[in-house]
Amino acid sequence: MAERTTLDTNLRSVVAKAATALAKKDLVTVRDLLEFYPRTYLDPTRPTDFSTLAEGEYVVVLADVQHAVTRKMRQRRGSMLIASIEDGLGNELELTFFSAWGHENALVPGRRVLVSGTVSHYGGRRQLTHPEYEVLGAGAQAGSTFGEGPIPVYSQVPKMTSMKVAAAVDLVLHALAEVPDPIPVEVRARHGLPPLSNAFTMVHQPRSTEEQRKARWRMKFQEAFVLQAALAVMRHSSDAVPAVPRSAVAGGLAEQFRERLPFDLTEGQEQVLGEVTSDLGRSVPMHRLLQGEVGSGKTVVALLAMLTVIDAGGQAALLAPTEVLAVQHHRSISAMLGPLAEAGLLGGAADGTRVALLTGSQSAAERRANLLMAASGEAGIVVGTHALIQEHVQFAELGLVVVDEQHRFGVEQRDALRAKVDDASPHTLVMTATPIPRTVAMTVFGDMETSTLTEVPRGRQPITTHVVRGNQPSWVQRTWERVAEEVARGGQVYVVCPRIGQEDDPDLPDGADIGPGGAIAAQGASAAAPEEESRAELHGVLQVERALRELPATAGLRIGILHGRQATDEKDATMRAFAAGEIDVLVATTVIEVGVDVPNATQMVIIDADRFGISQLHQLRGRIGRGSKPGLCLLMSQEAESQSLERLEAVASTTDGFELARLDLAQRREGDVLGASQSGARSSLRLLRLTRDEDLIVAAHEDAWQVVGDDPDLADHPELRAELDRLDAERAAFLERG
Ligand code: ADP
Ligand code: MG
Repeated sequence: MAERTTLDTNLRSVVAKAATALAKKDLVTVRDLLEFYPRTYLDPTRPTDFSTLAEGEYVVVLADVQHAVTRKMRQRRGSMLIASIEDGLGNELELTFFSAWGHENALVPGRRVLVSGTVSHYGGRRQLTHPEYEVLGAGAQAGSTFGEGPIPVYSQVPKMTSMKVAAAVDLVLHALAEVPDPIPVEVRARHGLPPLSNAFTMVHQPRSTEEQRKARWRMKFQEAFVLQAALAVMRHSSDAVPAVPRSAVAGGLAEQFRERLPFDLTEGQEQVLGEVTSDLGRSVPMHRLLQGEVGSGKTVVALLAMLTVIDAGGQAALLAPTEVLAVQHHRSISAMLGPLAEAGLLGGAADGTRVALLTGSQSAAERRANLLMAASGEAGIVVGTHALIQEHVQFAELGLVVVDEQHRFGVEQRDALRAKVDDASPHTLVMTATPIPRTVAMTVFGDMETSTLTEVPRGRQPITTHVVRGNQPSWVQRTWERVAEEVARGGQVYVVCPRIGQEDDPDLPDGADIGPGGAIAAQGASAAAPEEESRAELHGVLQVERALRELPATAGLRIGILHGRQATDEKDATMRAFAAGEIDVLVATTVIEVGVDVPNATQMVIIDADRFGISQLHQLRGRIGRGSKPGLCLLMSQEAESQSLERLEAVASTTDGFELARLDLAQRREGDVLGASQSGARSSLRLLRLTRDEDLIVAAHEDAWQVVGDDPDLADHPELRAELDRLDAERAAFLERG
């Protein structure tokens, strides 16, 4: 029970206590508190429906006191008070106080009270023991923060009731001087937005629902506007440094490469390539997003762009999200280029180039050689992971950065490479396999131009997907039989697990049962490697590999494993062996998620599929059906919860990447979508939802880009400038802390 505050209580202890409690919820500054928007509002004229209140739930309710009785206690001195409140629908809630003192005069029948506490059950009745309350309307204490308007309800702050939070907010609102408004007055006027100071009052102490909605819309708009302004400023500053135009050169490597291609580009590829080469020929740096399903032929287009840049005297960097993918890109690009990538080597084309590769696990000598090729300009293309290239590579003449994001939305590292080019901006091409909804593209990528490859080159095979209920032994058994049949027909199979696991993980209970998670759960938490955040009871690669070796159906197959704890050359050797058909079944973690290209792989079993996101599943299954035979993907799950299964059924029911991306986004938090650098210390997006607020984001985008376009340094918008600086500092501090 909270200690009673009397007239003699030290003022500091009252205020400091609130500040201490709020700090536990990370509410430290006045801004933090004012941006701690009410979770909901109660209508002061209407009691709260009690019928849905659950035991153990912290509730804030509004109701009328029905009766109150004071009783002498038998065991102790003093008296207790039991009051009952009613919601107008016939539901009662009992309020119990073990000391009646001070409550008798307040909890008078007929009065309307705002009460908060945790629901318990006692003697078949729902009750709140020692709830905090405030009398409203007639009988209200002087200085009540609640008026006639909607009553704010705040998310729970430990040791503080919603009323106390409201009181703290009230104190702050009164003390606060005029606050600078990051939204310029002309933009506010256009949308009829209240000034920020007013909006804070309107959102915390609304006089009407209308007022509350208006304030909330303004706050949301501000989030979108500030984010867009930040993107616009970034873009303006990078555009201020022109790029070197890289026009196509007749008879150059790009042309020679096209002649070498065993296929014609699709119409879509031709069109996108046209867009890209026209961008490259200009002195405004290209910022282009290339979207297209896995296998739609983005890499070929990107390679042609890289060669165009090389022909014009520049170099290209290809940034991959993982080392496996970087190695794979290096290999496939080298293979596609053939003699064109063997300049200076016997049999290489005289005017050819070289492709350098940088990975974390290269030997020092290997690395030095590759770094030298990049620095000297001998390598026209440098492939590596984002981090590696950014931190270590010097280029002779970097003209184009290709970022292979696949399904990541991260915007983080893209700009760091600009520093590699002294007096010019490189052109940038970002490839993504996950179609990105418009609002996300706008928010994450600023105003990148977008090219989309919609058609998949002929020869791509359809993929059929089924959900396999892991708790049905016959289905599970059938799955492994299907795997064996596939291999017998000359196909190859991926088996994807959510974690690597440990050598000493217990065997699966019964081979046929790649089995209920519960059986494995018995082992308790094994020391998970940092890369494995998944629960310990999930199936691990090592375990599943062992089980498959023992299972009658799969025992005779050649089984390999691939995961992140292996050394790079081990991974590499395994991928080569799989590509060469020397491994039938590859049990792997999601390291195979992106870019891996083995046309003969026709089947995939994803174990504990409910542990993966929608886009990730879509991405994973894109590894099959890449050759001449159709693909089969089996999503295995022990999960009985309908929501997880629905997600899997959704993935099974469509291969429309756009539809799946939308579904996926709807299930994510904005912070996940935007990545660490965008979400900041605590996300600066409190109210904005990328999936729901499309119109608002579009409007904020237009306004913000216009403001920044007219005043790139924000010299005439010091308040906006200050807000962006503040967010930058917050973000920097956040990234610093990791
Ligand atoms: P993405 O990068 O979009 O996943 P890729 O560029 O890797 O796709 O292409 C996938 C496969 O399709 C590769 O084996 C590639 O050689 C092939 N391919 C690309 N374009 C065409 C085309 N126009 N016709 C036939 N095959 C193509
Ligand atoms: Mg690719």
